[in-house]
Amino acid sequence: MPAARVTFLGTGTSHGVPMIGCRCAVCRSDDPRDRRLRPSIHIAVDGGPSLLIDTATDLRQQALTNDITRVDAVLFTHSHADHVMGLDELRRFNALGKRRLPIYADAKTGTELRRIFSYAFGGPAGPGGGVPEVALTEIDGPFDVEGVAVLPVPIMHGPQPILGFRIGAFAYLTDCNHVPESSMALLTGLDVLVLDALRHRPHPTHFTLAEAVEVATRIGARQTCFTHICHDLPHAATNATLPPGMALGHDGQVVTIEDVPLASGHGGGAA
Ligand SMILES: [Zn+2]
Ligand SMILES: [Zn+2]
Ligand SMILES: [Zn+2]
Repeated sequence: MPAARVTFLGTGTSHGVPMIGCRCAVCRSDDPRDRRLRPSIHIAVDGGPSLLIDTATDLRQQALTNDITRVDAVLFTHSHADHVMGLDELRRFNALGKRRLPIYADAKTGTELRRIFSYAFGGPAGPGGGVPEVALTEIDGPFDVEGVAVLPVPIMHGPQPILGFRIGAFAYLTDCNHVPESSMALLTGLDVLVLDALRHRPHPTHFTLAEAVEVATRIGARQTCFTHICHDLPHAATNATLPPGMALGHDGQVVTIEDVPLASGHGGGAA
C-alpha cells in the first residue's frame, strides 16, 4: 500500500491567527507557528491522488505557500464558512487538471454547498465563465475517492453532526466537542490523530484543550496534533504543557500516512 504526505494547510479557527485588529501577544508573535490560516489539510498519496479536506477561506494562499498544483478531489467535513469559502479557488485546479472535480459531502453539507455556491451548481456558465466545475457525491458510509478507501467518522459539532475522516491509520477530526462511542470504535489503532482544540475556555461547539487531551488519551493514537486553534494558545508555551505524543499542529507541518488503503478494484497491481 502506498504512503501519503499530509500537509496542514491551516490550523487556525474561523478568524485565523492573527485576528484582524487584535494586539494580543499571540497575534503579535514572531513565531511563525503562531500564524494560523483557516482549517484544511492536503493529502498527497504516492502514485495516487492529491486530495483536499475542505476548501478553507485561505485556499489560494495555502496552495501558493505549499506549492499545491494539483487537486483531484475534495472531501468536506461540514459547511461552515471557514471550511467552504475557498471553493471558488477550485477553478485553478479545474484548469490545471483539465477536469471537473469530484467533491464529497454528507447530505446536509451537500445541500448547503448547493445553496451557498448556487452559481457553481446552476447549469451552464454565462459569457466569461469562471465558475468552479464540481461534481458532488453525497456520502453515507465508507467511500472510495480516486482509488483511496475513506471512512467517515461522525462527530458532534455542538448540536450538529458533521464528518471526520479516517484514511488508514490517520484520522482528521476538526470542529467537534464530542466523539460518540460508536465513532470511538472507528478510531482504534491510529498512528496520527488530528483533533479540534480551540482554547482553554469552554465553547459550545469545540473541544477545549483539556477536553481534547482527554479524548485523545482515550483514542490513544501514537501522535496527536491539535487544530482549529484560536489566539488564546501560544504554540511553544502551550506545547510545553502537553503530554508526550501530543502537540498543537502548525501550518505547513507534514505528517506521513504509511499505508494508504486502496479501494477494491484499485489493487495497485498487488493482485
Ligand atoms: Zn489576538
Ligand atoms: Zn464549524
Ligand atoms: Zn471551523
